[in-house]
Formats: sequence, C-alpha cells, structure tokens
Amino acid sequence: MALRKQCPCCKSNYIMGTLIQDTEVCNSCASMLLYPQSTNLATVRKYYTINMQRALKFKKTSTIKLPLTEGLIIDNVNKLFYISGDNDIFPLYFRFDEVADYNIRSEGGQTVTVNKIHTDTNKNGREKTVTKRKGVLTRGLIGGAIGGIATGGLGAPIGAILGATTSKKVEMSPKGRTSTDKVETITSETKVVGAYNVLTIILDSPYGPRTFEFTKYPDSMAAFLDRCTAMYNALPAPEPAAALPEAEKSQPNETDRFTEIKKYKELLDEGIISQEEFEKKKKELLGLE
Ligand SMILES: [Zn+2]
Repeated sequence: MALRKQCPCCKSNYIMGTLIQDTEVCNSCASMLLYPQSTNLATVRKYYTINMQRALKFKKTSTIKLPLTEGLIIDNVNKLFYISGDNDIFPLYFRFDEVADYNIRSEGGQTVTVNKIHTDTNKNGREKTVTKRKGVLTRGLIGGAIGGIATGGLGAPIGAILGATTSKKVEMSPKGRTSTDKVETITSETKVVGAYNVLTIILDSPYGPRTFEFTKYPDSMAAFLDRCTAMYNALPAPEPAAALPEAEKSQPNETDRFTEIKKYKELLDEGIISQEEFEKKKKELLGLE
C-alpha cells in the first residue's frame, strides 16, 4: 500500500511530492512554483491562497484560442485570465493589470538576395520574346546560396547562377527580317524568409515575475495585451513598504478555509451538491453570512 502524505499547503493527500526549501508539498502545489527548491512553505501558501481566491470567483466570459491549447481563458467581469496548457492542474490566475509588458520579436529567418530580371520588349513591329533561364534558382541552389551568407559572401553565388540566364528576343520585322536583341533590367531584392514571430508576455504578479512565450497566436492577442498593459501602467507606483491588498494577504487559517471551499467545489463539479448549496457554503466559509 502506498504511503499517503498530507500536503502542508493545500491539505490534500498525495503520494509523490516535491521538495521545497523547508518541507515537501504535493505536486499540484509545487506546479505553481518556478524554483521549488528556493521557495518556502509560507510563500507556497501565499500563492495558493491568492490563486484559490481568484479561481473561486473566476467565470469564463471569453477565450483567445491558441493552436495547441484552449488558449487564454478570460473573465472580463473580474478582469482575470489564465493560460490553458501551461499548468492545467493548478493554473495560475492573473489579473489584467498584472501584465507589465509584452513584446513580439522575429526569429528563425534568413536573409536572401534575389535578383529579378526583366526583359523589355520592343514596341515596334511584331515581336516575340523568348526568355530562357538556365540555372534558375532551385531549392538546392538556394540552400547553397544561404550557406554563402553565413560564411560572408553571398552576392556572388546568386549572381553567378542568374548570370547564366539568357534572354533572347526574336523580332519579326514587317519585311520579314529577323533580328535578335535583348534588353535586360536586373533588380536586386533582399528579403527575410522563413521567419516567425514570438510573443512574450511579461507578468508582474503576486507569484513573482513570470513570462510566457507563444509562437503562434491570433491578432486579437495583442489587442487584449494592449488593454492589460494600459491598466498596469495606470496603476499607482507601489510604495516601498506596500504589501499586497488586504484581501490578498496570506493568513494561516485562510488556507484551511480555501481548502474547505475547494472540497465543496469538487462536490459541486461532481454533481453531488447543487450550485445553491455550494454558494451558501462558500459564503459561510468566507464569513459573508
Ligand atoms: Zn498541495
């Protein structure tokens, strides 16, 4: 029989735990931490308490879908969100005004110079332009050219390849005379190919500074983050001794109350008690009744 232990933070029973600075907690609680070994129990309890307060009032009003997960789950009423797929056991709930900043950078691209050849046609008489491209850039040749960039000298390979292009205009004059001519204009264009954007969200939260990166995201993400950072920037500057808001201060017996509420939430989710019964119990435990 497996030995079950009780988590000193959330009070749930567990088998496999994670060592933190001064004790061991269940893996769910540990999943809230970036550096479990340098985090103490008081801090884990603080995170847990704040997160439970937020989780309990959270009501999904919208989402921003991301390719591999449900995405950003948003509560526009309480101005909270969490990121699905980051930690689905104990997701961290963030306030909109905890989004300190975000940035978008381009990664993975390579600069390629492409020469374009335009052959002018003669406006006089009947004409026919035949453009033959010998050694047109194939995938393999481009690969070779890009290799050239890395070592420093590129123009040459591509120029050499396109230099092989021949353009032949055969002009049929009204008198049936045949002449051969060509007028070529070559333009060079430098472009970045294969690049993709990386969006980083920087959070200034009660769980410490956190960052999340996304390589694929919809445009609505930036609009949402703009709204959040505007709220963050509108916050008054923190006073040196400023603690968390009163409601978010960690108190030892609060942890127990939230654990109780969590139990009732589970009963509600399992359909054992009704929403009404749950709300009543919740108010009781929060001392609202
Ligand atoms: Zn726990």
